[in-house]
Amino acid sequence: MFLKGKTALVTGSTSGIGGGYAKALAAEGAAVMINGFGDEGEIESLRQELEKLSGAKAAYSKADMTKPDEIRQMATDCAEQLAEVDILVNNAGIQHVAPVDEFPEDKWNAIMDIICNSAFHTTKAVLPGMKQRGWGRIINTGSMHSKVASPYKSAYNAAKHAIAGFSKTVALEVAQQGITVNTISPGYAWTPLVENQIPDTMKARNMTREQVMNDVLLAGQPTKKFVQIDQIAALAVFLCKDEASAITGANLSIDGGWTAQ
Ligand code: NAD
Repeated sequence: MFLKGKTALVTGSTSGIGGGYAKALAAEGAAVMINGFGDEGEIESLRQELEKLSGAKAAYSKADMTKPDEIRQMATDCAEQLAEVDILVNNAGIQHVAPVDEFPEDKWNAIMDIICNSAFHTTKAVLPGMKQRGWGRIINTGSMHSKVASPYKSAYNAAKHAIAGFSKTVALEVAQQGITVNTISPGYAWTPLVENQIPDTMKARNMTREQVMNDVLLAGQPTKKFVQIDQIAALAVFLCKDEASAITGANLSIDGGWTAQ
């Protein structure tokens, strides 16, 4: 339990990969604040599970990552309910699949806000405390789409490339202050975000569900297997260790070989 006494804030952690990060950090003793939308009862069960795992307090913020004032309030709430943030995981994300000339403006803006702009606001809110304490870990969830593109995902590809660039910049700014900043870039992992894009992809590419699964999702993933949430979370835990203190400004692929091609 090497994270006892540390506090983690994981955005978009009421589901999927974010939930995996929250549990893995709690299992190492961190007090965790989760964030995101979903069923109140399920969120409360997750919060209680985190307390059992860590033996520390866990909290929930319903802050909307499109709203900078709610993001700042989330950081304040975390400091009041748990402690100031030592480990920040920017993970909230959504997807929309459409040709660029048909891409709805509201979807473009929401994707840029939730994936990219929110990371600026969270980082700005928690970095002064990390600097003061001389220790911090910032982990941004990228994607293989932070390195390469796929058609019909213009906003997502743009936002993921942007967060990887932002990550490198912050890493350079705090490189001598005990704070590391990295991007973890998964390939396809089976989560609601992936499941929900199947109908639109079927429409955009005129394909069946099976064709989307095999010819789109796993076509570019040489292992032909979805990445497991636990595998992604384990990498985040490693980045929090002292042994990982020289890893900063990196964009680490965990994508079954997707970006090796
Ligand atoms: P998911 O849909 O299971 O989880 C997304 C989370 O973000 C949920 O907790 C949701 O409530 C939250 N969220 C959405 N909009 C929000 C908002 N406005 N404010 C606050 N929270 C909000 O998806 P996932 O697959 O677990 O995705 C998590 C991250 O991993 C995303 O950044 C995604 O782009 C990235 N990613 C996923 C895959 C994959 O294959 N699943 C691959 C690469 C990267």
